[in-house]
Amino acid sequence: MATCIWLRSCGARRLGSTFPGCRLRPRAGGLVPASGPAPGPAQLRCYAGGLAGLSAALLRTDSFVGGRWLPAAATFPVQDPASGAALGMVADCGVREARAAVRAAYEAFCCWREVSAKERSSLLRKWYNLMIQNKDDLARIITAESGKPLKEAHGEILYSAFFLEWFSEEARRVYGDIIYTPAKDRRALVLKQPIGVAAVITPWNFPSAMITRKVGAALAAGCTVVVKPAEDTPFSALALAEVNQGFLLDLDPLLLASQAGIPSGVYNVIPCSRKNAKEVGEAICTDPLVSKISFTGSTTTGKILLHHAANSVKRVSMELGGLAPFIVFDSANVDQAVAGAMASKFRNTGQTCVCSNQFLVQRGIHDAFVKAFAEAMKKNLRVGNGFEEGTTQGPLINEKAVEKVEKQVNDAVSKGATVVTGGKRHQLGKNFFEPTLLCNVTQDMLCTHEETFGPLAPVIKFNTEEEAIAIANAADVGLAGYFYSQDPAQIWRVAEQLEVGMVGVNEGLISSVECPFGGVKQSGLGREGSKYGIDEYLELKYVCYGGL
Ligand code: NAP
Repeated sequence: MATCIWLRSCGARRLGSTFPGCRLRPRAGGLVPASGPAPGPAQLRCYAGGLAGLSAALLRTDSFVGGRWLPAAATFPVQDPASGAALGMVADCGVREARAAVRAAYEAFCCWREVSAKERSSLLRKWYNLMIQNKDDLARIITAESGKPLKEAHGEILYSAFFLEWFSEEARRVYGDIIYTPAKDRRALVLKQPIGVAAVITPWNFPSAMITRKVGAALAAGCTVVVKPAEDTPFSALALAEVNQGFLLDLDPLLLASQAGIPSGVYNVIPCSRKNAKEVGEAICTDPLVSKISFTGSTTTGKILLHHAANSVKRVSMELGGLAPFIVFDSANVDQAVAGAMASKFRNTGQTCVCSNQFLVQRGIHDAFVKAFAEAMKKNLRVGNGFEEGTTQGPLINEKAVEKVEKQVNDAVSKGATVVTGGKRHQLGKNFFEPTLLCNVTQDMLCTHEETFGPLAPVIKFNTEEEAIAIANAADVGLAGYFYSQDPAQIWRVAEQLEVGMVGVNEGLISSVECPFGGVKQSGLGREGSKYGIDEYLELKYVCYGGL
């Protein structure tokens, strides 16, 4: 835990004390709102049919620090990846704003840690309820800034809200231990205490869920957070703050008058441009007032943040990149395997860390699988703007992402792969790529050892189970892995041997708030969601109680 002079002097048992970070959020109609007015229409350009009609209050462009909406000296543009249209200009925070946010979170921690688990639980539950009430608007924000098809964006908002619901329940289930030592006059107690301020850095591919998966656990444990969202998708993080504020305003006045509000500074958001990400990241990850770094993103960035953590000895959770193998054994049911392949490969246009990256298909079933997979792709995938009815494949996040897929396809074809379907940029625009299936893929091709993050499915043919395991385990990352088999003995063997943190057996969709999410090898450290997720924000303290 960070050196904590404030904490030791804190002793604030009641919210609403005069403690600096503990100012209660004012209530509408009573006290003056702490937030500034919502941005006017001039600041935001809506995507036709997309953000039109959206509550302006949810489209925030300032940073959210210490319960206040604060502009920064500069702004950066956010674009709709489908059309390239400007969605708005957002506060471009720098080191100064980052330090202020850490200070606000640190001061709030003194109070938040004192709030009872039951109260934290009920406040998280209110936040969940408000997310559900606002789910349609929140989903539209995701589609506008990430390009994700609206149906999937709705799915993400539910998934995101479920983390708040789940951790509202887990908040009340943090237990310590009593240990009997050999000494008769002593008892040993183990307490679980919140770590402190968590620096939370998140990617663009799940602009809402990657935040609540961390923040739900952190707040439930009694920690406070400073969130740095991705440059491409700051609106979802800021909308969560607005909704969060909503629940504070929603509190019963009697409760508010006593102690039930979340103090300002518990949830802080500092958006910044990619240009500032390095120094803002360094500022929040090296600040002595921060005790925990929780990151989701690429392995490359994760390693930079691990250096920051090492220099100031902070706890870390790292949810990093993957290279998921999808193995189809001869005994598999082809229809089931194709359904799983479609789900695991093409969700979010192939831009999830658990998307299948390479398909390993056994010789006996290979041709039938490839034929059925190609047919399913042609029949079920429709490329388009995420707001259009029926779109299953939106744009990639930016042109760099398209260039990466294109490079992998060209590399594979130049080394002998065959294009079964797709293979090139899509006519819809510079950020679109055709869903692509390649066969005759070999391990020397880029697409088998570099995370694609796009709609490319490369198929490698193999002969034996050992060969498939060896290819899958050759990766230096290990997040998710999938395989299809009807042989129970093989299912046990392969599930145990795959070097990944999560395995889908005859199943292509595995994420669920109840289950531990995380990887092995260079896919990261720690687990999120599930009953284990809250432990990432708790410190064990041993108390030796003598003189008995
Ligand atoms: P990224 O480039 O690592 O960016 C992730 C976040 O880190 C963004 O907010 C980014 O800001 C920030 N960032 C970049 N460089 C930084 C630095 N030097 N210091 C501090 N922060 C920095 O990853 P991405 O391309 O956005 O996301 C895709 C990757 O995330 C994939 O590898 C995917 O597998 C992984 N992912 C993993 C999980 C999981 O649970 N394991 C889930 C989703 C995604 P900017 O946006 O401003 O660059």
